[in-house]
Amino acid sequence: MGICPMAIMPLLKDNFTGVLRHWARPEVLTCTSWGAPIIWDETFDPHVAEREARRQNLTIGLTVFAVGRYLEKYLEHFLVSAEQYFMVGQNVVYYVFTDRPEAVPHVALGQGRLLRVKPVRREKRWQDVSMARMLTLHEALGGQLGREADYVFCLDVDQYFSGNFGPEVLADLVAQLHAWHFRWPRWMLPYERDKRSAAALSLSEGDFYYHAAVFGGSVAALLKLTAHCATGQQLDREHGIEARWHDESHLNKFFWLSKPTKLLSPEFCWAEEIGWRPEIHHPRLIWAPKEYALVRT
Ligand code: UDP
Ligand code: MN
Repeated sequence: MGICPMAIMPLLKDNFTGVLRHWARPEVLTCTSWGAPIIWDETFDPHVAEREARRQNLTIGLTVFAVGRYLEKYLEHFLVSAEQYFMVGQNVVYYVFTDRPEAVPHVALGQGRLLRVKPVRREKRWQDVSMARMLTLHEALGGQLGREADYVFCLDVDQYFSGNFGPEVLADLVAQLHAWHFRWPRWMLPYERDKRSAAALSLSEGDFYYHAAVFGGSVAALLKLTAHCATGQQLDREHGIEARWHDESHLNKFFWLSKPTKLLSPEFCWAEEIGWRPEIHHPRLIWAPKEYALVRT
């Protein structure tokens, strides 16, 4: 019996890319020294997490700030892509914090999903907009957001979803490995080093460098996280100093003191300009091009 080569080509191709992907991925760390999972593509079954989230009838909050020019530049793509990939099939409540509620684009939302717009003041410096998020989030978590959501994810707006970002990411306290720094030695990580800052870590401290563009967890855990960061930022301000990477420095200090219970691989917040990396199989969120000249003036 003859085998039609055209019929087996797709089979071969699928198997070949599958095998290649496994070969190509070097060993990655899948668990921290304190026992928290680090999730990478293919280290979890998304359907198990989806079923469990639905069984518990969870509501997941997604907060995003779009202040000043960040609104026109990024918000629509962020929301449209979130509708396609973020917690599909779950109850979702978006919280969009902006200085121009009337300019928030209308995005068609799926069943069980709603969007709330919350007005915020526009701080003059972009650093202050970024840092002010901690106090605003703290207040929201202590109010309506905290009452209606079980878990909340707090994201930067200058990125968009490119793959499923589902309930596999849920845990009490979730941190994102920073795409640029995940293979760096500890002493080189860009933590705040000035001892006068509340965010300071010494050269021997720190586990990983976490990215402030993505963090999440239960409402109770996030209340602690945002209180810690807002207080640290205020203390620094009173001393006339500002941590190197603003809220991100304080977030890294918090995660050093209170270990996250789940870590997301850089696939969950990937920067394409880094180029091909064998560890990265399936980016879920991608940094939008940084157009600082446009958005930060
Ligand atoms: N942001 C904003 N308007 C600003 C500055 C910041 O809306 O003028 C928000 C926005 O959600 C942004 C986040 O704060 O994604 C963090 O700022 P940015 O992304 O510029 O910081 P980076 O990721 O470059 O450190
Ligand atoms: Mn950003």
